[in-house]
Amino acid sequence: MHDQPRYPDIRAEVAKLCARFPGEYWRKLDAARAYPSEFVQALTESGYLAALIPEEYGGAGLKLSGAAAILEEIQRQGCNGGACHAQMYIMGTILRHGSEAQKAAYLPKIATGELRLQAFGVTEPTSGTDTTALRTTARRDGDRYILNGQKIWTSRAEHSDLMLLLARTTPREQAAKKTEGLSTFIVDMRSARGLTIRPIRTMMNHNSCEVFFDNMEIPAESLLGEEGKGFRHVLSGMNAERILIAAECVGDAKWFIERSTAYAKDRHVFGRPIGQNQGIQFPIARAYANMRAAELMVDEALRLYESGQNPGAEANMAKMLAADASFEAANVCVQTHGGFGFAEEYDIERKFRETRLYQVAPISTNLILAFLAEHVLGLPRSY
Ligand SMILES: Cc1cc2nc3c(=O)[nH]c(=O)nc-3n(C[C@H](O)[C@H](O)[C@H](O)COP(=O)(O)OP(=O)(O)OC[C@H]3O[C@@H](n4cnc5c(N)ncnc54)[C@H](O)[C@@H]3O)c2cc1C
Repeated sequence: MHDQPRYPDIRAEVAKLCARFPGEYWRKLDAARAYPSEFVQALTESGYLAALIPEEYGGAGLKLSGAAAILEEIQRQGCNGGACHAQMYIMGTILRHGSEAQKAAYLPKIATGELRLQAFGVTEPTSGTDTTALRTTARRDGDRYILNGQKIWTSRAEHSDLMLLLARTTPREQAAKKTEGLSTFIVDMRSARGLTIRPIRTMMNHNSCEVFFDNMEIPAESLLGEEGKGFRHVLSGMNAERILIAAECVGDAKWFIERSTAYAKDRHVFGRPIGQNQGIQFPIARAYANMRAAELMVDEALRLYESGQNPGAEANMAKMLAADASFEAANVCVQTHGGFGFAEEYDIERKFRETRLYQVAPISTNLILAFLAEHVLGLPRSY
């Protein structure tokens, strides 16, 4: 659907891999709310999850646009990268802020799949979007930190060895600014004591969890970057996260549009294809136009990112436009399929549920609009 998609070879190989995981595979997992271990394993073995890890640490050393092409293609083929996409952007925090020893210890093992870094613990039940209000604490005690508190919506926590955690090391009232006094840690969850993980059943299969820390001890070397600067360390990865999620949404939108178009040509009612009716054509055409606009914004955000600029506005706009485009296309796809849009075996209702998430997570549309209003338009901060 793109005139000249970048990375045609990678896309073709990803599509081939995805063909081994058809709708039936995802439907079974969806019903059982189970993790797609075989799919994630296949992606790992093919090196796709290590796309952004530099070659010296055993990864492919691709640019962000390469990772975006991989994730877009996964979604376009009807699979779900939500099971493992975080590994692509979380490990950027290690790359940018980790010590040489941490990079050498973690990145090669993440690249081979020996270590899974799939969990990102930021959101808490009481703080919500107001990240700096989080209450989980990490108290230094000799050569250890002691963790106490709770995270929510920590996706894939049960299927990850490591978690990138944001916790308070200085109480908010003692910190110079509310954005200070937070620190990032690489927490090893294997055989950890004082850690409880509870899955949350959601409308789609996303393996998201509540995570409780009860006097959990971690070595002092788990600190990533500078103590007290964790909020900034996490923020520095946000552009990449937004762009990659936007690329996934573009992939979803393409899947829905392709399905809609094929069905509209094939399904005959009143003696003609339903796609001959403008009432069916126009919504699909509009969804296509909106998908393309979102795709161009993803390309623009990538261009700026890869030329070393800070594409905060473009990354956020790409995420918002693509999430809107994918959900619009999902809705059109259900409508085009009539009753069959609701039948599980068509996969449309499953993908519809899955793509709905991206208007809320990892950042909700309102907060993107608030960002644009304040930082691009110069309007007063609204919160
Ligand atoms: C399936 C799933 C997976 C997730 N995975 C992760 C993960 O792996 N790691 C992680 O840390 N988090 C994760 N999240 C959390 C996600 O990032 C948050 O749900 C999201 O940022 C919104 O926060 P909240 O749910 O607390 O909503 P709230 O902050 O409580 O907001 C509720 C609503 O109010 C709106 N709102 C709030 N403040 C304002 C304002 N000032 N102006 C206008 N509107 C406002 C929001 O836009 C939202 O629509 C996940 C969430 C889900 C549902």
